[in-house]
Parts: sequence; structure tokens; C-alpha cells
Amino acid sequence: MFAYLDNAATTRVWPQAAQAAQAEMTAGFGNPSARYAFGQEAARRLQGYRETVARALGCLPEEVYFTSCGTEGDNWAIRAGAEQGRRRGKHIITTAIEHAAVLESLKALEAQGWTVTRLKPDRRGHVHPEDLSAALREDTALVSIMLVNNELGSLQPVAECARLTKAFSRDILFHTDAVQAFGKVPFTPEGMGVDLLTVSGHKIGAPKGIGVQYIRKGLRMPPFLLGGGQEGGLRSGTEPTAQIAALAAACAIWEERGRDFRDHMAQLKAIALRELQARVPGLEVIAGGDAPHICAVSLPGYPSEMLVRALSDRGVCVSSGSACHKGKPSHVFAALGLPKRTLMGALRISFSPESTEADVEALVEGLAAIQRDRVGA
Ligand code: PLP
Repeated sequence: MFAYLDNAATTRVWPQAAQAAQAEMTAGFGNPSARYAFGQEAARRLQGYRETVARALGCLPEEVYFTSCGTEGDNWAIRAGAEQGRRRGKHIITTAIEHAAVLESLKALEAQGWTVTRLKPDRRGHVHPEDLSAALREDTALVSIMLVNNELGSLQPVAECARLTKAFSRDILFHTDAVQAFGKVPFTPEGMGVDLLTVSGHKIGAPKGIGVQYIRKGLRMPPFLLGGGQEGGLRSGTEPTAQIAALAAACAIWEERGRDFRDHMAQLKAIALRELQARVPGLEVIAGGDAPHICAVSLPGYPSEMLVRALSDRGVCVSSGSACHKGKPSHVFAALGLPKRTLMGALRISFSPESTEADVEALVEGLAAIQRDRVGA
């Protein structure tokens, strides 16, 4: 067994979710668009899954659009902003700590003449509504601010930012990337006042390859994929019923047990931070994380890639930042203005409902041993 503490990268699929997927792939493999009874049964089940997901998200079933992943949802939201820009102008506001799925989409728009304002976070990883107010312009078409940051666990003031944006102009689209927030912090899209919200299944125990885009009822959205007209004509493509069934199963589990899961993860994180600081001399906490499942620490003087490898040798999986960065220093940690030594030794630790105290002990003992080995060398 190994200690898996990289649940912000991906999670193990719940057995119930895997079983639901298997049933759709074998017994119930019909195409929901087919007119005969076998296909229509698949369509009926699909509607049931949509209702389950909508309940967990706190929205209407017709506001749920199944996508392939969080990256797709973020790309779609930025594309919608660009479409909106035809009417309002070519300015977008985001934060300096968004996921690459948002930031790279925006870079592509900048190359086409758009202007992007990136709000800077404070030292604890929070952006401030006053900075958003100061950045809003007559030509602003879209605001995209994530709900929970994937490397720091910091919760952004999305509801307040959406309120300010809509008070400035109801025509500005507001998108939030809730990939790391869904299940981990309670929210509803309507309660926050957002137009678009992005979720990914593989962060909550559904398989990779399924996501949800919440699109507020009444909002006119450009389609993402053209074709057979599935998902209300906005996202064509035969529905991946197996992944959707698994996502619905995962949503049902989180809906029923979410509060206990959050308490469990928060408790483990508190133990981890306490023990790491007590037993690993020199360790710094970069971010305790508002969300229960993510925190970031640093062991200055130890390159994080080396720490990740050495921990891996001891059977412990953590990340040197977002798994999407592939060895480059994280733009998120860099945006905090950390000293270089702290930045270079940064590690992200992330929990799931299945994480245990034994996982935490393996991590703490692993880091302490790496340090002892180096001092002794
Ligand atoms: N947004 C955030 C905040 C994420 O953490 C991730 C994945 O790590 C994504 C978007 C991309 O999601 P996916 O891996 O489903 O494409």
C-alpha cells in the first residue's frame, strides 16, 4: 500500500461509481438518441443522472451540461466570453492564480487583440473584491474567478465578486472554475450569482473524462461542439452514459456524506500541519487552505521535484504543485511573492474522504527521514 496524498490531482473512483459505469457499458449500452425502447431506456436513465447531479450542484437539471472535463468547461466559458465581447468589448478580468485551462485560453485571446487583467492575490492566496471593482470597464465582457485554488486551497470571494460585476453591468458574463470546490465547500451557483460554473468528475471519485458545465437558465451560450444536437444543441456528441452514471453515483455519495467527508479531511489536514511543523525542522506552511482538502508547505533548500521523488521512493504521493505544470515552478506559488528558496521547495498535500492518519504519518516520517538522510550525508 502507498500513501496517496495527491487528491487534488485526481481521486480513486468510488466502487459504486465504477459499478454504475459498468452497468451502462454492458447491460444498458444503448444510445440515448435511438428511438427504440432500448435507447429510450438509456435516455430515461440519463435524465435521472442529470437530476442527481443537479441536486448535488444545487441547480436545475436543464442547467447541467455534461462535458468531458474541467478543461473543456473552462475553455467553453472563455469562448462564451469572447462571443459576448462582440457586443461589449475585448476586455476580460481573471486572477493570476487560475488553472492553466483558463490562463492558456486567455493567452490565445490576447494573441487576437484582447486585453486581460489578472488580479493579484495577497500573501494568503486571496484576491480582493476592491481590486475587481477597480478593474471593471465599459468594455469588460467576462470575469472568470475560481472558487477554490488548486494549489493553495484558498477560497475566493466569488459571490461578492459576482455581485459587484452584475451591479456594474448585468451584461458581463461571470464564470467560476469550481473544479476544486465541488463537494469540498458548500455552494450553489444561484446563491453565488454566477452565470457559468465548471466542475470535473475525477476530483470527486468519478472517472476521468466527465465534467459538468452549469449554464444559468436563460443565458444564451455559443455551442461548444456542433453535431447531432445533444445537450440542448450546445454540446453535441453521443452522451458518455457510463461516465455520467458514475458521476451521478459519486454526486449521490457526496450529497449524502459530504459534511462528514469535509470534517474528516479538515481534521486530517490539521493533524498533518501540526505534525509536519513539530517534526520536520525548517518546514514552512505556505497555505493552510480554506478548503478542507488542500494545503501547501515548503522545505526551503530542498528542490520540490527531489522531495516528490524521495517521498515516492517511500511510497508517498504528493505534488510539487499542480500536476499540470510538469516540473515548471508553479505560477500560483510565484504569484504569492514567496522567497525563491521557499518557492523551490514547495509541496502540495491534498486529501480525500479515504485518506487516513496512516497516510499522514507516512508523509511526516518520510519528510523527516529525507531531512535526516541529508544532514547525515
Ligand atoms: N481547474 C482546476 C482548478 C483544476 O484543479 C483542474 C485540474 O486539476 C482543472 C481545472 C482541469 O480539470 P480536468 O483535469 O478535468 O481537465
